[in-house]
Amino acid sequence: MRNSHEIWGRVDAISPDFTDLSDRIWDKPELAYDEFSAVTEHSAMLKAQGFRVTEGIAGIPTAVMGEYGEDGPVIAILGEYDALPGLSQAAGLARPSPLPGPGTGHGCGHNLLGASALLAATAVKDYLKAHGLKGRIRYYGCPAEEGGAAKTFLVREGAFTDVDAAISWHPSSFSGVNAPFSLANTRIDFTFEGKAAHAAAAPHLGRSALDAAELMNVGANYLREHMPQGARLHYAYIDAGGTAPNVVQSNVTIRYLIRSETLPELMELVERVRKIATGAAMMTETHVSEKVVSAVSNLMGNSPLEAAMHRNFENLGPPQFDDADRKVAAEFVATLTKEDKLAAYRRMGIPYDPDAVLCDLIAPPCAEGDMSAGSTDVGDVSWAVPTVQARGATCAIGTPLHSWQMTAQGKTAHAHKGMIHTAKIMAATALDALTDDMLLEQARAEHAARLAETPYICPLPATVKPPVRRKQAAT
Ligand SMILES: [Zn+2]
Repeated sequence: MRNSHEIWGRVDAISPDFTDLSDRIWDKPELAYDEFSAVTEHSAMLKAQGFRVTEGIAGIPTAVMGEYGEDGPVIAILGEYDALPGLSQAAGLARPSPLPGPGTGHGCGHNLLGASALLAATAVKDYLKAHGLKGRIRYYGCPAEEGGAAKTFLVREGAFTDVDAAISWHPSSFSGVNAPFSLANTRIDFTFEGKAAHAAAAPHLGRSALDAAELMNVGANYLREHMPQGARLHYAYIDAGGTAPNVVQSNVTIRYLIRSETLPELMELVERVRKIATGAAMMTETHVSEKVVSAVSNLMGNSPLEAAMHRNFENLGPPQFDDADRKVAAEFVATLTKEDKLAAYRRMGIPYDPDAVLCDLIAPPCAEGDMSAGSTDVGDVSWAVPTVQARGATCAIGTPLHSWQMTAQGKTAHAHKGMIHTAKIMAATALDALTDDMLLEQARAEHAARLAETPYICPLPATVKPPVRRKQAAT
């Protein structure tokens, strides 16, 4: 690691406060829209560092924005801090060992994601101050990435209107520029209403909402063969109508998660799923209604920013993991299957190395690897402003996201090194955008050209509000 850029020394100098912040967020895992301690921690850090802080942006109590600087371009660094249900796990232990409590855990590494983004923004702030440079650096503390689409709401409410470029990252097995590929998705609750009746004495009087939901699933199963490549349909019963088989279930809600590679394609697929729901209602003489719960767009790439970020990766070199880190990582690798490891290599387009346990390379720029992907609400930010994301090596190679192994590694030395390393990449890329007019101009031009081809339509209907919660009184 060459670490020659002044900003990298600045990141190192202040990093202990931010690895501590990451550990505190790990210690209190909070689910989407419930991240009250996390946002309090992030707001306190922003204030302590001298940012101008706006709390509760876009009407979301667990969202925060901090800004430093005057005039010039506005560069945003995006952080997250929400956890996941069912992924509680003791720190550092390479065997399943949930902690007592509500069962939540940082199985996607968002404790690192938020703290590293805030570390990068703080180092850029220090650099601007030291050199008397014009330009504004912002940190956006974004809640509810896991299924809550908070950034889509933030975009819809105009939180990024005056931003020139956005930078973010995600914990990963490898370090490199994130290939701008994710699926657009929407979650829609379909509720079927029928008529309850005694299932034995008067079944002919009943109209089963449960039958309707099951017929909808049958229809969706037949649709799957005829969807575009890369599209996905998943479902979960929110309310199966009750536990009594001797009652004709009159009220059932089923949630569909519909994904596709592009926003226009998603909208077409949603229409086809709606027709299936309507058909199921007709077949069962029930009534169907729907409620959109969340929606996110696919990621739009930005090649000038991706090239700038890759240059910074090449200049800095890979993270410097040592033998102690490799020993810990090897314990986690032993819990993974070969398929887990192969998937990580395939995704990044890197040849498989059976002996490697931690990343010691920089992934090729935006490699055409295995394009199987999930979704992220960074997608909507990328349609609003030119956006680039890094992947930062914070875990043993092959560790799946949303796993107990990911939670377990969230406070390890190798996770801390990975988050500091990626903060350096984000800070250097932000400085490039703040100081190189040509880079921003090229980034804007490419963004405008892509939007001209496919205009952005917010996938969230105007009537859908973020499902925010009020802070619980301390007990
Ligand atoms: Zn994540």
